[in-house]
Amino acid sequence: MAKANIGPMNYQLMLPPIIQRNYGKWKSHRIIDTGVIEHVSESGECLYTVRAGAAKIISVHGVRDICDLADKFCDGHLKFTSRTNIEFLVAQKEKIAPLKAELKRMGLPVGGTGYSFKTIIHCPGWLHCHTAVTDSPGIAKALHDALYEYFFRDDLPAKLKIAVAGCLNMCGAIHCSDIAVIGMHRRPPTVNDDIVTKSCEIPTLVASCPTAAIRPKGKSVEINPDRCMYCGNCFTVCPGMDIHDPEHDGLSIWVGGKATNARTPPAFSRLAIPYLPNNPPRWPETIEATTNIVHAWLKGAKQGERMGDWIERIGWERFFELTGIPFTNKHIDDFIFSVPTFRTTTQFHYTDNP
Ligand code: SF4
Ligand code: SF4
Repeated sequence: MAKANIGPMNYQLMLPPIIQRNYGKWKSHRIIDTGVIEHVSESGECLYTVRAGAAKIISVHGVRDICDLADKFCDGHLKFTSRTNIEFLVAQKEKIAPLKAELKRMGLPVGGTGYSFKTIIHCPGWLHCHTAVTDSPGIAKALHDALYEYFFRDDLPAKLKIAVAGCLNMCGAIHCSDIAVIGMHRRPPTVNDDIVTKSCEIPTLVASCPTAAIRPKGKSVEINPDRCMYCGNCFTVCPGMDIHDPEHDGLSIWVGGKATNARTPPAFSRLAIPYLPNNPPRWPETIEATTNIVHAWLKGAKQGERMGDWIERIGWERFFELTGIPFTNKHIDDFIFSVPTFRTTTQFHYTDNP
């Protein structure tokens, strides 16, 4: 029977021979230098991971240079991590130093292992996405510049993972990062009847809204603004539902997410700062707010405590105190459709005029 030519290849075909030989037999892993991990197999063989931080948006020339390095030092094998690190898998220890020298020459920093700041994951934002509030790669670059030193240290309380998304769709591990910057639309879309009637399928458009805020009106549609959560989903299916509003769009900061099961269960990030201006090209307000949260965590967290673990231990009220972030009504989870997170008690008090 003919095999279907679809889907990804079997990943095991891509593994370096040393990993294929020792699959499932790795006995230990340890960091032997900044950005270098030694893996020891039960067979006695050793493999070294050299981790370099890289931009997520890179040129063809950059990719070719990276592949040349992999050919030269790793028999053509390398791996990109989900946080856009490049991991060179080196089978001979003596190749580590010349590889690091070449990476330095190319401007690719070696680090990000252990309890350090990882390279930032981000969505394409303005570069490539119609829904974006902001330039996610630009914010990631400004944040990298501000926190660069922590990429080379592994003495932080725990891993520090940061993510940036251009809108509420949260492409890029936003929900499970220690700190997340998210672009926020803050007004319902404007309905352009002419485009909607000529280019959009009304039933699909109505069905695209997760909160049932859209209903047919004549040959076009109308939006119930009270139900709209500004997600931009309708704009994805119909260009006549423009959600961009440079005057009111902004950024928000979320904290405490993580994907790992280590020590405590995985957690979703939660709102810390509901609005900051979208201020390219360097977003000073966002950089200051993020570094402020990082510094509070560095100062107060115990060894092994991710951002969310630290906040849960000291309490969210104390987190707001320590970071100086004002607590507002925007922090109250009033989304009644979410049974697990809907707050049904008055565990803390809120006032508009403290
Ligand atoms: S998070 Fe929003 S802006 Fe970014 S890629 Fe996804 S849909 Fe586009
Ligand atoms: S922005 Fe989202 S919630 Fe608002 S009308 Fe469009 S799909 Fe519905």
